[in-house]
Amino acid sequence: MLTLSRLTKRYAKGDAALTDVSLEVPAGQVVGLIGPSGAGKSTLIRCVNRLVEPTSGAVRLGALDVTALSRSGLRKARRRMGMIFQEYALVERLSVMENVLSGRLGYVGFWRAFLRRFPQADVDRAFAVLERVGLLDHVDKRADELSGGQRQRVGIARALVQEPDLLLVDEPTASLDPKTSRQIMRLIVEVCAERQLAAIVNIHDVALAQMFVERIVGLKAGRIVFDGPPDTLDAAA
Ligand code: ADP
Ligand code: ADP
Repeated sequence: MLTLSRLTKRYAKGDAALTDVSLEVPAGQVVGLIGPSGAGKSTLIRCVNRLVEPTSGAVRLGALDVTALSRSGLRKARRRMGMIFQEYALVERLSVMENVLSGRLGYVGFWRAFLRRFPQADVDRAFAVLERVGLLDHVDKRADELSGGQRQRVGIARALVQEPDLLLVDEPTASLDPKTSRQIMRLIVEVCAERQLAAIVNIHDVALAQMFVERIVGLKAGRIVFDGPPDTLDAAA
């Protein structure tokens, strides 16, 4: 369970980007976060893992108060939060397998990956997630040989291999065509159900969100203006 309590973010300049955002996301639930550009969607996602430091309010992951953690505590907590990005953030000249292992092994392990010394248990986990996302035939390809949809599948596998409790997903389909976007959204929702992960998916495309998620949260000017099932959104708008 992810709990945000009165989360507020004020950047140095300008109005608050987030004001008093409270939200509970139970394990297994995918929240589609929608709202116009500048509404605070990226800020919300980045406050959860403290890539952006909240000005006030709290983020809890289970019993853990993420906002109260020291730097070293935060590093550990981030292992429980898988990140998936719009532009995939893969290392282009590494293989699919190496990209996925870099998620399992973290920063230090990333250099181990360069040295080709992989703990067997991590390799086994990587194979399992690569099979789940449908990339078993591509494990040795370099990231820069893949299509956009395949690249995002690597991004998903890299997030899953660290066995997180939570997925933070920032515009996962913004660089993909409509059909691939649907495949990727379906995959994200399915793996969250299978592994009982809570997820927040920042998604520009409202129709796509409505197609796949069971709960939509609408942000406007840093505040929650809608929270409910997708089929009640049209009536509220
Ligand atoms: P969204 O993801 O919904 O487009 P953002 O979270 O990126 O919204 O932005 C919310 C508000 O915060 C906007 O007004 C934006 O200009 C502002 N903002 C975002 N990042 C920064 C930053 N690093 N410094 C100052 N203002 C920022
Ligand atoms: P978009 O959502 O249009 O792709 P973002 O809102 O994510 O773009 O902004 C891109 C980068 O610029 C982010 O790192 C964000 O934090 C930063 N940013 C956004 N608005 C501002 C702002 N008003 N001042 C400073 N940095 C900003």
